[in-house]
Amino acid sequence: MRHSRSVVLAAAAVVGAATLAPVGPVAAEETPLQRALEERARPTPKIATAIGTGGAVSTVDPEASAAALKVLKKGGNAADAAVAAAATLGVTEPYSAGIGGGGFFVHYDAETGKVRTIDGRETAPKRMPTDAFIDPATGKPYNFTPELVTSGVSVGVPGTPATWHRALKRWGTLSLADALKPAVKVATRGFVVDETFRQQTLDNKERFEAFRATKKLFLPGGDAPQVGSVFKMPELAATYRKLGAQGLDYFYRGKLARLMSDIVRKPRTTKGTDLPVPPGYLRPSDLRDYKVRNQKPTKVSYRGYDVYGMAPVSSGGTTVGEALNILERYDLAKLPVVQALHLYLEASALAFADRGKYVGDPKFVDVPVSDLLSDTFAAERACAIDPTKAMAKPTAAGDAASYDGVCAAARQSGATDADTENISTTNLTVADKRGDVVEYTLTIEQTGGSGMVVPRHGFLLNNELTDFSTVYVETDPNRIQPGKRPRSSMSPTIVLKDGKPFLALGSPGGSTIITTVLQMLVNRIDLGMTVQQAIAAPRATQRNSANTTAEPEFIAAYGPALTAFGHKLVPAGDAFTSAAEIGAATAIEFGPGGLMTAVSEPKRRGGGAARVVDPK
Ligand code: GLU
Repeated sequence: MRHSRSVVLAAAAVVGAATLAPVGPVAAEETPLQRALEERARPTPKIATAIGTGGAVSTVDPEASAAALKVLKKGGNAADAAVAAAATLGVTEPYSAGIGGGGFFVHYDAETGKVRTIDGRETAPKRMPTDAFIDPATGKPYNFTPELVTSGVSVGVPGTPATWHRALKRWGTLSLADALKPAVKVATRGFVVDETFRQQTLDNKERFEAFRATKKLFLPGGDAPQVGSVFKMPELAATYRKLGAQGLDYFYRGKLARLMSDIVRKPRTTKGTDLPVPPGYLRPSDLRDYKVRNQKPTKVSYRGYDVYGMAPVSSGGTTVGEALNILERYDLAKLPVVQALHLYLEASALAFADRGKYVGDPKFVDVPVSDLLSDTFAAERACAIDPTKAMAKPTAAGDAASYDGVCAAARQSGATDADTENISTTNLTVADKRGDVVEYTLTIEQTGGSGMVVPRHGFLLNNELTDFSTVYVETDPNRIQPGKRPRSSMSPTIVLKDGKPFLALGSPGGSTIITTVLQMLVNRIDLGMTVQQAIAAPRATQRNSANTTAEPEFIAAYGPALTAFGHKLVPAGDAFTSAAEIGAATAIEFGPGGLMTAVSEPKRRGGGAARVVDPK
């Protein structure tokens, strides 16, 4: 890595500027040179594993992990550090997450021993009609790509600023302004563009070119920023500063709210673009009325561990939980690994069948959460599994209204839900020295969201409403309804053992999030892997469809043996991404004496960044 002297000196010259207020409640004693070094954008090391005490963080991005670590070192707690990291991800991973999107925040409070959650999911505007995804010109559903993906119609009311605000109020010690400071710093001084950022920009080039503000920000000079160049986001820095200073009203009421509504209802496309961009329904009153939900987590016990997850409107907690309940009926640790993987795939298919039939926004549909998570229901669902042979897929959902754990005579086949969830999103795990833990997954849905940057504000709006079913069917829990939240797969998960944290984990990856979290849990708890091995191990995802998508290494290792069971394995990678990988997880495992093992991806998404306060 080369840094010319002039870079350091130029950075040093900025040190006197007013933007360099210390982060957090306690001012750090830094020398001017240290501060100058801090100020320059530099390639940051990616560290897959960090072991130590005093606090830990894992994200996909070194800048975000550094921001969290700094907050922890200055006495901030896990909630403070999680918001600081998330805001920084809004800078360095702007195509995956940011204030234009939503997410789910799971928190363990060491003092009370309680796990609590915040649902910061995007919400459909109140005027969004149930046939919003039908093209009025043809009377037929819009194509998913490009029409729905790049559109105003898929933009939901963002929940992320309100999530940060609520998390800090409930559990944090910092003000929003202070928690945003590390991100303001990174946005101002810039970050070094890596391969992932450039490639994600190129993957989005055509649609980014379709919007004036997006083109200006992310395609300066008509091209994606070069690897190794410094990318600055001064407009986002200013937006964060104002959000910090003025609070949520800055975002949800007033000028910015009007601007967001305007561009959603009348997308500002570039002259000459031939991309069709259906307009949406967002109004300032939708933003004004947005509220995060304090949500009770889901909980299942699995082999002596208590697994807490995200309740509906995420399907993460119920689907991971149901699959674990099914798997608990088998002694996976004693089985040959291929046999255990066969059961993992089958349990996942069954849980996905039930996810499709039952899970939607609980404010609009009755979701039978306790039935889906009942051991009796799992016992009955497990009847469909033949330990020697893969079932025909898609398989039918169970009957959550009437079950007794007894095997019914015949298996039924069902229908696969159209799976259009993308593999973007980002996830982070943080723990502090007091023992509080945060698992937080946040997203703007598609890599690049709706493609629409809010002019002069430096952030992308989500296209989360694509997570609704495209076609309206009265019995579908995930049908479009005005004011409703679309079903999610995000699965931030905290596992306790005897009331104390054992493991916290989560991942991006659309509906593969569920299987990544499930597979990592099985790897760690049943298959004898360390947490490092559990995250690195090749992945496969079975979501109740005829084929099981898998990473090439998984197919190389287990393909022939699983094919002999009747599984059909196909390599990962789809129209949205050239990368044949599944997920980009983060996790922290907790050991005796306050020991924390923070892990991130060694390879996927270019590798992540794990850090601890006091390395061992
Ligand atoms: N929209 C997805 C969900 O809420 C997440 C998107 C992703 O992971 O890429 O489940």
